[in-house]
Formats: sequence, C-alpha cells, structure tokens
Amino acid sequence: MIYLDELSNSKLTSYKITAIIDSALCVGAGGSSGSLADKPIVRNSEGNLLIPASQIKGRLRHECEKIARGLRWAVCYSPNPQTMCPQRAGLTENFDRPEYQVPGYEGKHCLICQIFGNPVLPSRILFDDLICTEDPENLPEVLRPGVTINRRRRVAEEQKLYLLETSPANAQLNFTGHIHLSDTPDYAGALILAGLRHIHALGGSKSAGLGWLHWEFPDITLSQAAWDFLAKGDEK
Ligand SMILES: [Zn+2]
Repeated sequence: MIYLDELSNSKLTSYKITAIIDSALCVGAGGSSGSLADKPIVRNSEGNLLIPASQIKGRLRHECEKIARGLRWAVCYSPNPQTMCPQRAGLTENFDRPEYQVPGYEGKHCLICQIFGNPVLPSRILFDDLICTEDPENLPEVLRPGVTINRRRRVAEEQKLYLLETSPANAQLNFTGHIHLSDTPDYAGALILAGLRHIHALGGSKSAGLGWLHWEFPDITLSQAAWDFLAKGDEK
C-alpha cells in the first residue's frame, strides 16, 4: 500500500475522473460464479457504492499497453513478472532503447513500466476508489435472478439459480475520484487519458448488458512534446 504523502511531490499531477454508468453495474452481492474479488463494485463503510481502484488500474494498464504497441513501442507482458521488464523472458522486440533507461535503476524499462511499475520499478501512478456521488439512501436495491447454464448440455442446471445485485438500471450514476501521477514522464498523461477512453465497460457481465459506462475528465492541455514523443515509436 502506498500513501499519497509518501510519493515524491516534486512533480505531482492529479486528474479528476468520473465514470458515468450507462447501464446497471453489477454489485457482486453473491453471484454463484467467480469470487467476490472479480466483482467490479462494492460498498464502503458508509454504504456508498464504489468501484475499487485496483479494477481501474489493471484495465487501464492493459489498454495503455495496447496503445503503446499500436504506436510500435516495444512493451512487456504483464502481470507475469517473468515476461515483464526488466526480465522479459522470450520477448524479442527492441527494448534496448535510450528511452527505456530510468536513472537510478538497472536494466531497461518499457514506457508502460515507467508509469505502472514492475517488480523492481515502483509504480508512479496512484488511483483512488471511484465513489458513487448518489446518496445510498436514494438507491433501491436491485436483484436480478440469474441461472447458470451448462454450456455442454445447453440446459439450465438445477439449483444453480442465483441473485445478482446491480445498481439501478439507466440511473446515470456518477462514480468519481482522482488519478495521481508522481514524477511521471511527460507522455504519461497523454497515454493514460487515451487509455481511459478505451474502457467502455467494467465487470464480467457485459453480455448481460451490465456495466457499460463513459468517462468525463476535464480538458487537459498535454504538451506537443508529449505527443511527438509517443509518435516516435513508429520510427525504426
Ligand atoms: Zn515493461
């Protein structure tokens, strides 16, 4: 666990981000499949619905990896430490680049590791949980019955009926919090906000029409130098 005041604040940037839920979000009160840890939304001690920071961080790293690869920057493969920087077992792309050197650290670290960290490089990004701005008193509990299907026999299995708690449908609930960047390279802001735009849904119930969302964040002026740097990945 890292606390904000432990991060170096020599160059701290915070972005306020809001997820607006377009369909109901699964609350994870007790589905029969998957662990509670897979569930995208829980409540804090005051009863507010929240989306855990860890949910956003994992998804955002994945989306940023895809964007960086699209720009032809060599990127390692998370979350297995063996395929991540600085080991990169079996990866043959060009990681031997001056941009991948981090002062004070051994080895080369790809652009994604320089933001999100790896087993030897500390993360320079910190996420708040996103908290629902709606008073929980005003939110009715919604339970949806579900039935697990035996995929081979294509029949509903007996005694596998379960209840799934969701947030109310079409309520346009807002979940809000901050992303904090500490001493990140200039390109980090551009990459992160582009990555966030690629997250269209959270949770494992997309096929049931749950968890769709869009994002709002303030207009941020990102330097031309940051965009130019990212575009450089195309040069061989
Ligand atoms: Zn890496």
